[in-house]
Amino acid sequence: MKTFCGRANPTTGSMEWLEEGEDYDYHQEIARSRYADMLHDKDRNVKYYQGIRAAVSRVKERGEKAIVLDIGTGTGLLSMMAASAGADFCYAIEVFKPMANAAVKIVEKNGFSDKIKVINKHSTEVTVGPDGDMQCRANILVTELFDTELIGEGALPTYEHAHKYLVQEGCEAVPHRATVYVQLVESKRMWSWKKLFPVHVEAEDGEKILVPPSEMENCPGVPSVCDIQLNQMPLSDFTTLSDVVAMFSVDFSRPVQSASTYYRVQLESVKSGKAQIVLSWWDIDMDPSGMINCTMAPYWVKPTSALQWRDHWMQCVYFLPNEEPVLQGEKLYLTACRDEYSVWYNLQKAREGENKADEEEHKADVRVESPVCRCRAHLLWNRARFGQLNDQNRTRQYVKSLRKVLKTDSVCLCISDGSLLPVLAHYLGAKQPSRIDLYHPHELWQALFKANHLEDKIKIIEVHPELLKSSHLEDKEISVLVGEPFFTTSLLPWHNLYFWYARTAVSTHLASNVTVLPQSASLHMMIVEFQDLWRIRSPCGICEGFDVQTMDDMIKDSLNFRESREAEPHPLWEYPCKSLSDPREVLTFDFTKTVPQHCLSTEGSVKLLRKGKSHGAVLWMEYHLAADVSISTGLMQMSNEKGNCEWNPHCKQAVYFFSSVIESEILSDPTAVTYAINFDTKTGEIAMDFKL
Ligand code: SAH
Repeated sequence: MKTFCGRANPTTGSMEWLEEGEDYDYHQEIARSRYADMLHDKDRNVKYYQGIRAAVSRVKERGEKAIVLDIGTGTGLLSMMAASAGADFCYAIEVFKPMANAAVKIVEKNGFSDKIKVINKHSTEVTVGPDGDMQCRANILVTELFDTELIGEGALPTYEHAHKYLVQEGCEAVPHRATVYVQLVESKRMWSWKKLFPVHVEAEDGEKILVPPSEMENCPGVPSVCDIQLNQMPLSDFTTLSDVVAMFSVDFSRPVQSASTYYRVQLESVKSGKAQIVLSWWDIDMDPSGMINCTMAPYWVKPTSALQWRDHWMQCVYFLPNEEPVLQGEKLYLTACRDEYSVWYNLQKAREGENKADEEEHKADVRVESPVCRCRAHLLWNRARFGQLNDQNRTRQYVKSLRKVLKTDSVCLCISDGSLLPVLAHYLGAKQPSRIDLYHPHELWQALFKANHLEDKIKIIEVHPELLKSSHLEDKEISVLVGEPFFTTSLLPWHNLYFWYARTAVSTHLASNVTVLPQSASLHMMIVEFQDLWRIRSPCGICEGFDVQTMDDMIKDSLNFRESREAEPHPLWEYPCKSLSDPREVLTFDFTKTVPQHCLSTEGSVKLLRKGKSHGAVLWMEYHLAADVSISTGLMQMSNEKGNCEWNPHCKQAVYFFSSVIESEILSDPTAVTYAINFDTKTGEIAMDFKL
């Protein structure tokens, strides 16, 4: 079966119809899946194995047969552990067909076909009885259905159903329980992912300050979880205001309720400050005694030596609806509200001389409904975009270069999504800057402009660049065309080259001496060794003694499904790596001219200057705003002896994983990596090939 999928090309902006076979979606899913990362998670695997062995022994000691239900079996790993531990029979449920097929193969290859039945169904469709999928209810429930927020993948409704219909009362469960922990912190850095801070602009006639409207200040934001590698957040970027406390626990061996509810704990601030953020993570006890514990606790809670790197489970950042000043020793109530799939937090102060009755009263005014963004900014801007807009350093670069090119009679047009550049241009003296914007929520801009008395100062033109008419510009020619460039549809760094296509589309409206800012962009590349990220794309082979190569082959197949392997976006500030080569500029894009008809390509080789494993190449864009002002969306700094890199914290970089890794030794005769990179100006795609 073939289906036509329509999509707007993120780089060229044109609408394309692609013919996709039915395999397409699942290849994408497998190629970018977290299965490899889970199989590399030694700490998780070892503890599951210990927990499963202990559960099987407890059942056997009671003289019962051990019947296992493994919901979401994936590769079949946990069922194979159970079978090896002596379970009499395992029902391995997997909803995702390609995975269920792989599980059948893996189970067979490891010789467990007579002990494990793979059932390709969602667990809620599974039947029990003589003619059912399962002969009888199970007495051991094994699952791994957790995401960073614990419940985001639907663990609660799945458990609720399983206890009602699929397992015996008093069954053993691995894991036995999960506990969610929280810590209250103040952090300007993380708060800047949720709030727009005042933007300061040094203009000729003094400092101008753009302030956020009150709607935005008081907006609770969106309930979607912000999951990050908290271990990459230095202690200097936040202040802890409370101890770590257990917020709530779920016992998986008893009936589980998934209906919305809330939990509250009393805290005492350990420091005075502004309560802004709740940091959260969880742990799971694989057995009832809590002796086999697998925790996501970050480095300042847990000794660094015991940290297991993993990407499938990270830590959560929750933004409180409003920042709350707290005093050292002050008593606070923190409430976690949850529905079936997500969690959100509220903070309240305990009143002086509070008693039990007051506490009850507090409970009544707990806001349990999930946060809804009223200001629209949280729907338009993600946390990285907020961070970028709040980056005063970045703003300064734009101000510096705008100041160089703007004149009082400049006709300034900005092409970038939801950009503040026209506001900067206005503050710097441009008469009526306008902005082409297709995705702007009126309410947001009206409120922002109103709060800053800019209502009639900036014009928003709602047309595609190709459809721009002279009348939109009051028959004036554009003398200054600006862009950050930033577009919400961009996934990979070069997708923002859409600016070039848009610039080409509006060519007839440009004055002959137009200034384009940025004047050009360049694509940069560097070969790196990742500290950990390599795991997510690296074959596993044998996992805890089980041969899972079938899974490796399947991932490899899916990666090769597209003719050319693709680069993938990752925010590298969260994923440390060291450079093995110097950074190199590989392609340049001249925005003062239109997009050429021909392809842009380059070939060359880079020397590996350091000892290490070449896991892949990192690629990023730099924008040249004016003669001596550039902005990098990738590498910010590199310490030369060791090759440690500092990356732009508000952008994702492109990572191209090599299909095989080479290890370079101390280099008297340096190894070289040759590359060929081609930018197809018709499709806007970048194809690349590397030879080691
Ligand atoms: N158990 C494996 C894989 C865990 S990933 C391991 O530990 O390595 C979770 C898997 O559960 C995914 O493959 C997903 O497709 C599947 N899944 C999630 N919810 C499910 C449900 N309710 N019924 C069946 N499969 C489910």
